[in-house]
Amino acid sequence: IVRIIDLHKSFGPVEVLKGVDLEVHRGQVVVILGRSGSGKSTMLRCVNHLERPSRGTVVVDGEVIGYRVKGHKLYELPSSAIAKQRTKTGMVFQAYNLFPHMTVLENLIEAPRRVKGVNRDKAVADAMQALEEVGMALKADAYPGTLSGGQQQRVAIARALVMKPSVMLFDEPTSALDPELVGEVLNVMRRLATSGMTMMVVTHEIGFARSVADEVVFMSEGQLVEKGPPSQVIDAPLHESTRAFIDSIL
Ligand code: ATP
Ligand code: MG
Repeated sequence: IVRIIDLHKSFGPVEVLKGVDLEVHRGQVVVILGRSGSGKSTMLRCVNHLERPSRGTVVVDGEVIGYRVKGHKLYELPSSAIAKQRTKTGMVFQAYNLFPHMTVLENLIEAPRRVKGVNRDKAVADAMQALEEVGMALKADAYPGTLSGGQQQRVAIARALVMKPSVMLFDEPTSALDPELVGEVLNVMRRLATSGMTMMVVTHEIGFARSVADEVVFMSEGQLVEKGPPSQVIDAPLHESTRAFIDSIL
């Protein structure tokens, strides 16, 4: 459902992604591990074109992200078309980024109304369903500031789900949370995975990776150095750099 082909990204003279190839199939959960600065966030941000690749292609749901294909040529899409494509991917960041002056419900209906032109009744119904899925329906009328970090992050997940994405992208969704709040967010993600959602997850939560990931990839200096089931990459890594990293976070 996601195909990343020969993805390169440079910031000025610094090449941060040096030719990444990765395929994520429908319903798969892929966990991405790697040291700080290895390019994990940049890769995820290229998938929804928050970063524009320097070279290479990202295909989601059969569509080349950011470009229109005509014959053998690629033409850059206008930002409105990219915004539309971006609805294929639901992104959840470390910081929840909810609008503080809107209630939970208003946060959830904003994008469907504005980007997809969904009518208010339908948007509210979809939002309530997404809130059910993350166990936050009772807080629909609360303001984000009155919620715990874990609750805010669950709302952020619901806000992504409401757009009915083909793939959910998580970038260290629990690393800003107090330790006692991490579990509730991981449980929501676990349920989402069980329900068949396709997910790419950058996290250091090894327990989650072991129990939920179909595939774990280890990234180092802008390249994927190892990829396989958790039983291999986490418990019997082939590469020394993977082993050293796993040891450092366990
Ligand atoms: P972390 O675990 O700390 O989140 P990461 O693996 O997500 O790290 P990236 O955020 O993708 O790493 O960053 C990879 C490299 O790219 C880093 O050296 C970072 O400084 C650099 N970088 C990222 N974004 C930009 C930017 N907008 N401009 C310049 N350099 C950037
Ligand atoms: Mg990052």
